[in-house]
Amino acid sequence: MTKRLFDCPKCNKLPDESFAQFEYYNDWFTTYPEENSIHIHFGDPTEDEEGNIQEVTFIKNYLFNIFKKYPQKKFFIFTDLTTMDNSELVPSESIKIYSEIFSHDQVGSVVMYGGTKDLNEIVFAINDLARSEVSVAKDYHEANQVFQKWQSLN
Ligand SMILES: [Zn+2]
Repeated sequence: MTKRLFDCPKCNKLPDESFAQFEYYNDWFTTYPEENSIHIHFGDPTEDEEGNIQEVTFIKNYLFNIFKKYPQKKFFIFTDLTTMDNSELVPSESIKIYSEIFSHDQVGSVVMYGGTKDLNEIVFAINDLARSEVSVAKDYHEANQVFQKWQSLN
């Protein structure tokens, strides 16, 4: 496994084996089934369309396997964009796949945090297409407040 680029108060306590990884861009994924949450920690920005589509497809497969494993659960998805910059290239094909993912019945809510202004614009484009609630937060702390609220309502 490659070295973690992210800093997450919750995931920092977990050993490397608890994560799935898309190594090419150093993205890390883990699931907390006991509290119905999934953490996606992006690593390096993707600067080519083909790589970005592969990355989104990996994320889709990871999430859909989790949904299959816990068919009765809905999940809150933390998406950490902190290490990304504006060189991230998100082609329309990827936006389509993201909106497919976030329209899945088992996605309760998605919060993307730590993104630049440009990345947040992409998030809003996904939100327009997705059936789930997709929102933006400044940092993990703020994302976690959205999660606490979601948990109290579900
Ligand atoms: Zn985390």
